[in-house]
Amino acid sequence: MKEPSTAEKPKFWRKPLDADRLQVPKGKVHIIKERCKGCGFCIEYCPRDVLGLSDEFNSKGYHFPVAVNEDACVSCKLCDLLCPEFAIYSETIEQEEVEKGGK
Ligand code: SF4
Ligand code: SF4
Repeated sequence: MKEPSTAEKPKFWRKPLDADRLQVPKGKVHIIKERCKGCGFCIEYCPRDVLGLSDEFNSKGYHFPVAVNEDACVSCKLCDLLCPEFAIYSETIEQEEVEKGGK
């Protein structure tokens, strides 16, 4: 099995005894741009800086988020929880799919 690069490894205050066996989940983020009201919560609070604001507008005239750093998504689902319009969600990609190159 491929060892994750240093950049992908989580930082721990105290290294857990099973840290070498932990696998960082990989996520894929989905954005329903027509629901978005451009509040920017998901962009501001994503802990992995996955999202950025699009230059485009949706039909309501709002800039919506886009995944600018999709490989960094760990499917923490914080964006799902924060979005007041249910306009964004993430799914966890199974490890076999990650090894095959994602969806
Ligand atoms: S699931 Fe977590 S890491 Fe992925 S885009 Fe949402 S907030 Fe960022
Ligand atoms: S939190 Fe929801 S409504 Fe706000 S910018 Fe993100 S997707 Fe759009």
